[in-house]
Amino acid sequence: MSRVYNFCSGPAALPEAVLKKAQAEMLDWHGAGVSVMEMSHRSSEFMSILASAKARLARLLDIGDDYDILFVQGGASTLFAQIPANLTNGFDSACYLDTGAWSSKAIKEAKRYTKVDVVGSSKEQNYSTVPNFSTLELDENAAYLHICPNETIGGVEFSDLPETSLPIVADLSSTILSRKIDVSKYGLIYAGAQKNVGPAGVVICIIRKDLLARSTDDLPSIWNFAHLAENDSMINTPPTYAIYLADLVFEWLEGQGGVEAIEAVNIRKAQALYDFIDSSKFYSNPVDPAFRSRMNVPFILADDSLDALFIEESEAAGLRTLAGHRSVGGMRASIYNAMPMEGIVALIDFMRAFEKRHG
Ligand code: PLP
Repeated sequence: MSRVYNFCSGPAALPEAVLKKAQAEMLDWHGAGVSVMEMSHRSSEFMSILASAKARLARLLDIGDDYDILFVQGGASTLFAQIPANLTNGFDSACYLDTGAWSSKAIKEAKRYTKVDVVGSSKEQNYSTVPNFSTLELDENAAYLHICPNETIGGVEFSDLPETSLPIVADLSSTILSRKIDVSKYGLIYAGAQKNVGPAGVVICIIRKDLLARSTDDLPSIWNFAHLAENDSMINTPPTYAIYLADLVFEWLEGQGGVEAIEAVNIRKAQALYDFIDSSKFYSNPVDPAFRSRMNVPFILADDSLDALFIEESEAAGLRTLAGHRSVGGMRASIYNAMPMEGIVALIDFMRAFEKRHG
């Protein structure tokens, strides 16, 4: 079986070059005689991999010395709880912007730890847009403002940040490294790896060092951001192989010319797909054009009785996992950094031919 174009929202396609390198190094990493999977996390070899991953990520995102890079376990969902557990000490509330399914989940978890002020929501618009930032009522005494700048399920993305003195905490799970960001504008950035970074099992957490003072000793150690930072993410055994693959993905991305270069490609990919959808009466995208995601492109067929056939025929054509999230239905093409332009062209060709046959 040859490789197909994989449009899964996560775990998502990884660059083929990365997988080949991992395969070549699988049995014997750099002459160590063992796989990275088999080596002690405290060995000098693994310590060098961890240091390399951090250094590459810092270069790719231009992360300043006033930030720590943590590799956290449990998935981005764990951070939905871990963030309020760490950052609300000494505060009465936290502000959350509700722009879709993932914001809502973060809100639900935060409510277990603190009073949550939902400062804006696009729920009434079926999460097809982003609230106007000038209408947000931010309590400047809150612990932080939480945002999700790319809603993976709804396909809604924004790049501007609300004006606030609060530390901005951002779930960048499905957009990290796909576009340039100014890290210094954030208090904390977190991202599950399984989209643009590597395999599932590790979460990137970039935290401004002054916020570490908020973590109290009554937190479980492996949940405590300050302890994680002090111990270089190694309070216990970290997900070593996932970190190793993240390092290979960062290396690959540097080879592509870095974030700015991949962003230019991502713009072209998304533009081609949205242009095609907009030119068709058979397919449509429900999102406000000002906030369409470059990473996750949901689309619906004019006749939803054709959905199952669309999935069946697209899979047969080597286009994998185009079904929309089970909560919203329709279709969704996730087109992260590893998806080449050729995959977009193949998808558009298939969609055009499908429309001809069944439209
Ligand atoms: N946040 C966003 C934006 C996501 O897309 C996802 C998963 O797809 C998550 C959080 C949850 O990630 P995890 O499954 O790693 O907990």
